[in-house]
Order: sequence, then structure tokens, then C-alpha cells
Amino acid sequence: MAPQFQGLNSPFDCILFDLDDTLYPAETGISHATKRNIDEFLATKCDISAERASSLRVELFRKYGSSLAGLIKLGYDVHPDEYHSYVHGRLPYDQIASDPHLVQLLSSIPQPKILFTNSDRKHVTKALARLGIQETCFDQIICFETMNPHLFEETKEIISTSSEVVLKPSPKAAEIAVDLAGFNPERMLFLDDSERNMAMGKAVGLKTALVGKRLKTKDSDYALENIHSLTKEVPEIWNMNRKVEKEIEPMRSDLDAIRSPTPVEV
Ligand SMILES: [Mg+2]
Repeated sequence: MAPQFQGLNSPFDCILFDLDDTLYPAETGISHATKRNIDEFLATKCDISAERASSLRVELFRKYGSSLAGLIKLGYDVHPDEYHSYVHGRLPYDQIASDPHLVQLLSSIPQPKILFTNSDRKHVTKALARLGIQETCFDQIICFETMNPHLFEETKEIISTSSEVVLKPSPKAAEIAVDLAGFNPERMLFLDDSERNMAMGKAVGLKTALVGKRLKTKDSDYALENIHSLTKEVPEIWNMNRKVEKEIEPMRSDLDAIRSPTPVEV
């Protein structure tokens, strides 16, 4: 049986956070630089013409979930570490600003928090460090390596026989996250900036919050203009002991009545 988070009257036992364009705004330019680096990788490492690289990246993303997943599926001899060091290794991380308010917001969340990102572990470490978030703020970090341990096996044969890349929005990625979290998916809130990922979350029963949008979509239960709107848009996360508080209230009145000054006979 999935564990229940004690002491809360919240509909959520666990919160899943995407990283990129969710914990920091899309306007930082990291996303744009990532796309540019992928285009360069396709051109220099995979012998794709510079003119074709950009449209191929979009096609691979649509069809396989990511460029790396597509390249491996299509038989290119690309190791994930090589891809990530090229694509993430040269990102302008200094564009991600320290965010003390986010640190405070995260630490105020009583439920277990899980980072659930397609990015590799090195990128996670760098991006969180820039934001000023301790990795220990999260109970678990589910990243590229977590979802794809089979791609890091020593033996080449193993790589060639199980070369499927598991990433959001694949249902398998969501199943891995739910399994590792160990909670009932209907009591888990999943925050992400991608509408495709919202659909993936819904498919496995997660409650979903689309970050970076004002309006909900058919697959999102909530919409947050940015991560800082979380307290306003999803206050039920913090529904601490509401029942208990209600029960305590009359007791307080009783106590106040007892404590109220009684006329003193003079
Ligand atoms: Mg994202």
C-alpha cells in the first residue's frame, strides 16, 4: 500500500517538479541556447547540414521526445554523456539568477518533493546551484540517468540491444517517477511547463499544474503564471492539519473564557 503523508489534510502526498523553464523562467535563454547547441551537435557530430539541423531537431523532438532519443533510435552512435556535455556543457548558466524566494517556497512545502527532469545529473547540479537550491531540498532527483541506467552499461552489446531512451513525455517515464515516489499518483501533484508532459501526467493519474501559463489546458488541473504563483494557485498544498485546527478552535474559546478576567469583589 502506498504510504500516506502524515499530519496533512492536503490532497497531495508528494510534489513532482520539473526543472528547466519551471523552476527558472523560460526567458533566461537557457532553452534557446540548448536548442542552438543541439543544432550544432547535429551538424558537427552527426554530419547533418546546418540548414537541416534545426528542422531535424524539431522532428526528432516531436517523434521521439528528444533529439538524443531520436538519434539513438535512428542508429547514430551517440553516447548520452557525449551529447550532454556538448549540449549542456556550454550553456550560459550565469543567466540563471539566484532565487531566495523560491528556496523559501520550496522549504515551506511539507510534502516530499521530487525533481523530475529529462536533463542529465550535471545539468541538474549546475542549474540548482545557480538558483541557490540545495540538492537535499529534494527527497529524490529523477533525471536522465535515473530513467536510462541501461544506456550506461559497460558492454556495448547491452547498449545495442536495449537502446530505448526513456524521457518525458513517454508514459514509461511517468511510471518510473510514480514507482520511485511510492505514492498514489492521484495524490501526487506534477508541475511542468510542457503541455505534452501534462498529458503524460494525466495518463498515469497524476494531478497536473502547467507552469508558465495563465490558463489551464485540458490536461492540467492548475495553471501557474510562474513557480512563485504556487501558493496562490494551489494553496491546498499547505492544508496543514485543518481538521485538527477546527477542533482546537472551540477549545481555545473555552480557554479564553476561563482566562477572561472575572470581576473581583472589593
Ligand atoms: Mg521544462
